[in-house]
Amino acid sequence: MKIVLASRNKHKIEEWNATLGKYIDGVELLSLDAVGITAEIEENGTTFEENALIKAQAAARSGYLSIGEDSGLSVGALGGEPGIRSARYAGEHGNDRANNELLLTKLKGQSDRSAKFVCTIALVDPKHPESPVYVTGETEGVILEKYVGDGGFGYDPIFFYEPASKTFAQMNGAEKNAVSHRGRAIAHLADYLKTLQEKE
Ligand code: IMP
Repeated sequence: MKIVLASRNKHKIEEWNATLGKYIDGVELLSLDAVGITAEIEENGTTFEENALIKAQAAARSGYLSIGEDSGLSVGALGGEPGIRSARYAGEHGNDRANNELLLTKLKGQSDRSAKFVCTIALVDPKHPESPVYVTGETEGVILEKYVGDGGFGYDPIFFYEPASKTFAQMNGAEKNAVSHRGRAIAHLADYLKTLQEKE
């Protein structure tokens, strides 16, 4: 089964292939470039679902079953911020340090520091692009007041996962994948793909 993942990031595709491969055999993920989709995809949705769907539908123009993923951090005391703006919370896309600093500033003096990471995946069949299947993974944690650990990316150094007594930045890849929002969403996706394989 070949599936297009709406990404051009080789590292991301490799990571996804490895994680998905732990749960299901016989699935090969292809990048947008591998199927000749070169147009920029404008992520202008207002929810994780909408953005995941925009990406999956764009990839499905290849004619293959396609996946779009959107993820981010949602902080309860901030009404769900940074949410879909997680990558560019402080303005510049991908400036992790600035994003973390802004979040820490906004949470100064706040007693409720609970947060969750969310990962939403949309799966689109090119024959029925208006009928996506969604799976979501969530992981709850607490936003610390300072940085702990130097692994991972994004908000990992300030996201404390209580069951492991570690931040995501203190975990290795396998540890994080086992409990992360993305790992959980991919496990749900694998369950759904198995039902498709059984029908083949
Ligand atoms: P994307 O949808 O995977 O590109 O993620 C959007 C943004 O959410 C990233 O740029 C990060 O700021 C944040 N984010 C998503 N997943 C993680 C994670 O596992 N750790 C830390 N930050 C994350």
